[in-house]
Amino acid sequence: SSTEASVQKDISSTDNKGFKGHDMLAPFTAGWQTTDLNPLVIEKSEGSYVYDHNGKKYLDSLAGLWCTALGGNEPRLVAAATKQLNTLPFYHSFWNRTTKPSLDLAKELLEIFTANKMAKVFFTNSGSEANDSQVKLVWYYNNALGRPNKKKFIARVKSYHGSTLIAASLSGLPALHQKFDLPAPFVLHTDCPHYWRYHLPGETEEEFSSRMAKNLEDLILKEGPETIAAFIAEPVMGAGGVILPPATYFEKIQAVVKKYDILFIADEVICAFGRLGTMFGCDKYNIKPDLVSIAKALSSAYMPIGAVLVSPEINDVIYSQSNNLGSLVIRERNIHEQVNSIAPKFQEGLRAFSSSPIIGEIRGTGLILGTEFTDNKSPNDPFPAEWGVGSYFGAQCEKHGMLVRVAGDSIMMSPPFIITPGEVDELISIYGKALKATE
Ligand code: PLP
Repeated sequence: SSTEASVQKDISSTDNKGFKGHDMLAPFTAGWQTTDLNPLVIEKSEGSYVYDHNGKKYLDSLAGLWCTALGGNEPRLVAAATKQLNTLPFYHSFWNRTTKPSLDLAKELLEIFTANKMAKVFFTNSGSEANDSQVKLVWYYNNALGRPNKKKFIARVKSYHGSTLIAASLSGLPALHQKFDLPAPFVLHTDCPHYWRYHLPGETEEEFSSRMAKNLEDLILKEGPETIAAFIAEPVMGAGGVILPPATYFEKIQAVVKKYDILFIADEVICAFGRLGTMFGCDKYNIKPDLVSIAKALSSAYMPIGAVLVSPEINDVIYSQSNNLGSLVIRERNIHEQVNSIAPKFQEGLRAFSSSPIIGEIRGTGLILGTEFTDNKSPNDPFPAEWGVGSYFGAQCEKHGMLVRVAGDSIMMSPPFIITPGEVDELISIYGKALKATE
């Protein structure tokens, strides 16, 4: 909108002159922005902070894109990457060739994922690619079982599963579909389980979860269970605005998918490795998935890497049909304990702002938090989009030296796991200043 544009112009005119009209096209960036505005150019990182090319320091409250879990300059990651680049910068895993670090990492991942027994790891370069690979694996599995019609996927409204064609199709965000002829026809979307926004008057969280499960079952029955291959869900929805599962939600959803022999895929790309204070989101919400996608904190984004974890049942089919058809730093540090120890300060400090008249809901767990600006504290009274309340708040945070994620009037934060108590104080203080200016 024009207000958002003027806020962005305002940021770009202050500190970051000199790159207007640059040569990149970029994701989630309007074409005119890449040409008419100066981008924010980030040059280096240090712990929980990043610096722009003028040396201005920002507290990176989103850890890059939910990913630099160990912050900037973790020496052991830099040393491991340097050593490997000097020894063997590339080799592949085609035709039963591979590398020792890949074998070691696969072994370690299978050891630390304990929510359900997993048998194998398939490596990818990103979370999007992990989710694309999920679709191929599931189709392969059903073809191998002689069920060529069991191919559809059910994802959820407001989910985010990535930006490639299939991952964007699975995602339940209209901006990823419009103008790209998506979603692909094999993808269906069921309800977003955001209790605060969508519950009926008087409905408890448990009743709401039962309704979500019933709607999922109705969709499966309408389409025909023999056509539905898999259900995919983030334990906590991230880019949709940090949406936590309501009480009993995953218990009820898992019962439905099990009943119709539908695979459960946990998209742990944001939640894995400690973000929620447990090693995986599946541990926190008692999810027993058949397949898992991971990426991001897997390397703290120091290297592009993702993976799919595959259950023994699926692996058995892959094994039996294959002739017919074609060291974690996080583990050493017990990092999720660190997240658990800092999380109350982060959550309680920011939730203290809940009484603000422009905040509808502040929600989160561990080191992930969403803020939603609304009028009258009601999900039904959004501010006019042209006011650009979320963008204004984001610009104010940036002015005071902190980066947040803005999606309409929803604000997201997921700081690095190494954030210190002093940095949490700073984060809360900047949030408070930005809120005051926005009110
Ligand atoms: N899945 C989830 C839940 C994500 O949040 C993201 C990215 O934010 C992805 C998948 C895509 O991962 P990547 O950006 O590594 O492709």
